[in-house]
Amino acid sequence: MAENLPVVVIGLGRFGSALALELARRGTEVLAIDNRPKVVQALAGRLTHVITADATDIDALRELGVDEFYRAVVAIGGDLEASILTTSLLAELEIEEIWAKAVTHQHKRILERIGAHHIVLPEHDMGERVAHLVGGRMLDYV
Ligand code: ATP
Repeated sequence: MAENLPVVVIGLGRFGSALALELARRGTEVLAIDNRPKVVQALAGRLTHVITADATDIDALRELGVDEFYRAVVAIGGDLEASILTTSLLAELEIEEIWAKAVTHQHKRILERIGAHHIVLPEHDMGERVAHLVGGRMLDYV
């Protein structure tokens, strides 16, 4: 089943590291990648496979065996160039399920066009979720 297949998480900022740690906690095997050694060191004791590499380098991705994975998450947001290039390389490597984080709707559209299968807009999506929560709570008081 796809749920139990290993996942590559690229970009270990607040979003990517929380995602990688939660997947690992749930028993999913995770390969976590970031190009900042300090970020990787900080997670080294908490994740089994966490590696420093530049995800915009296709040879580095191949060396790490990223092309063997079924699912990958691009959790790079602020650096648009790195987000777009990494997502396009994952598409080139024919990863079946590419998830990518977007920071704007334009960013989302670009990521979809270059091959991302699922897009997450964390701030937008969380705003909607909180609206449901707040709405639900409000109903309890009416
Ligand atoms: P967050 O809000 O989740 O903290 P962010 O939206 O600010 O993150 P970025 O700062 O762009 O997103 O990137 C998140 C992580 O991705 C950072 O830890 C950064 O080092 C990493 N990253 C950026 N470019 C690359 C790259 N080319 N290869 C690997 N990791 C990268």
